[in-house]
Amino acid sequence: MDDKKTAQIEEIVQKTGLKHEDILKQIEAKEREFEGLVSRDGAIYMIGKEAGLDLAKPKVENLKIKNIVPNMRQINLVAKIIFISPIRTFKKGDADGKVLNLTLGDTTGTISISIWNEDVEKVKDLTTEDVIEIKNGYSKNGYLGKIELVLTSRSEIEKSDEMIDTQEPAQQKSKTYRNTTQHSLKTIKEFDNVKIKGCLASVYEKKIVHNLCPECRKKTDDANNCQVHGKVIPTKFLIISGTIDDGQGRVNAVFFNDAVESLLQKKADEIEIDTKNTQITKYLTDEQIFAKDFEIEGTIKKNRLTGSEELHIRVVNELNIGTEIKDNIKELEV
Ligand SMILES: [Zn+2]
Repeated sequence: MDDKKTAQIEEIVQKTGLKHEDILKQIEAKEREFEGLVSRDGAIYMIGKEAGLDLAKPKVENLKIKNIVPNMRQINLVAKIIFISPIRTFKKGDADGKVLNLTLGDTTGTISISIWNEDVEKVKDLTTEDVIEIKNGYSKNGYLGKIELVLTSRSEIEKSDEMIDTQEPAQQKSKTYRNTTQHSLKTIKEFDNVKIKGCLASVYEKKIVHNLCPECRKKTDDANNCQVHGKVIPTKFLIISGTIDDGQGRVNAVFFNDAVESLLQKKADEIEIDTKNTQITKYLTDEQIFAKDFEIEGTIKKNRLTGSEELHIRVVNELNIGTEIKDNIKELEV
């Protein structure tokens, strides 16, 4: 123990008349009480304060990610951005809302944070590898059993010049995904049946509804003619391919037929009419599909053309995560 600490403990001994070893026990108890959240300096300061002493305040140390537990207030964290999502926009009543998700890392783990509305401006020019400092953040239990950071109106977020190392990705898995029945897009492989929570981050398709010849499954022309079978009553085939983002990673994903209808909450005929003269990305934006979170089940398959893995989606269920987070923030601000 350094001289400063020894001197401070001596001061507490003098003031309280207790034995040196009893004070040490109190300090250790204080450290245990805060489960590694206070340094030895901090514990000495707190014990001193309880004894009525005005010891020099310890330098505030920033929290490490592994020490963040749900419902902590006044979190100060310096961490590196390891993932930044696109900005998603949505409508809430008359107002336009936007949100983006960051995954932050330090030497002890990773944590995600959703940045809402005006706060998006403060981070939109940042990129991965940038280090940011968060002051007065709050932590909550998010989906997948992961702990998330939340900003309140009293929080600050800004770029920092500090150098931060992050953990090796392999060590992060169990930290960020505590619920093992769920999957992380970081760890998936071919033939995995996965159940994830995430958002549609982008789409590739120009068209969602395709008309196919019922005989040969080839596309028909606008007048429902098959090149081989002539005039037919086409079968509708629905496809949306794009990328799914679960906050930890991305995967190419394909929604077919029923999964497309569940995603859009519309039937094939309706989708066909809605998308007739509209660009698909604009259509999905207007339908607020990019602003929603979904629980998605499917199987990982190798794309025969590109050789890359893609998720073939069977089941889609919408989640109301955004509302949940906003309600939590309101609670805090009361
Ligand atoms: Zn045909």
